[in-house]
Amino acid sequence: MTTRRPAIFLDRDGVLVATDVRNGKPIAALTLDDFTILPEASTAVASLKAAGFMTIVVTNQPELARGNVDSATMDAMHARLAAAMPIDAVYVCPHDSGEGCDCRKPAPGMLLRAADDLDLDLAASYMVGDRWRDVGAGLAAGCTTVLIECGYTEPERVEPDLTARDVAEAATLILDREKAVRRPGGRA
Ligand SMILES: [Mg+2]
Ligand SMILES: [Zn+2]
Repeated sequence: MTTRRPAIFLDRDGVLVATDVRNGKPIAALTLDDFTILPEASTAVASLKAAGFMTIVVTNQPELARGNVDSATMDAMHARLAAAMPIDAVYVCPHDSGEGCDCRKPAPGMLLRAADDLDLDLAASYMVGDRWRDVGAGLAAGCTTVLIECGYTEPERVEPDLTARDVAEAATLILDREKAVRRPGGRA
């Protein structure tokens, strides 16, 4: 009998990697020079990994479809990410809106594929992201959702279970919640 494992699904831009904000919207890095891993990300992801979660990046990258970044650059970015923190897998949606794919968040395709590939327990897993699309994907996959509040002007369309100011606080909230869930009677 195999035991399905819980995972932390991590959005990339605005969670693990710095984004520029223009007109209230986050803009993803298009070059390796602009690809800056957030200082709090490595420790936060390592703490989640140490607690027994698989750590999986799920990222919409429509600039691939738009031709503004190529897949070799994207691969190099993700190699850099994996060198900086313990990541089990990276799933990328390379499509633009309007292509009708099943993986562009808020669709849950990347999470469902990872669950199938890695034998994950989605109900025991979390989705951490900085946009409503991330929360929507997590909700659709049956995960607990954590929104990192970055002050974007886009309206919130999906209510998250938890909110945090950055991935470090998200990790702390998740680990506290896990302690409460696992201890009979919950934690005071
Ligand atoms: Mg993001
Ligand atoms: Zn897609």
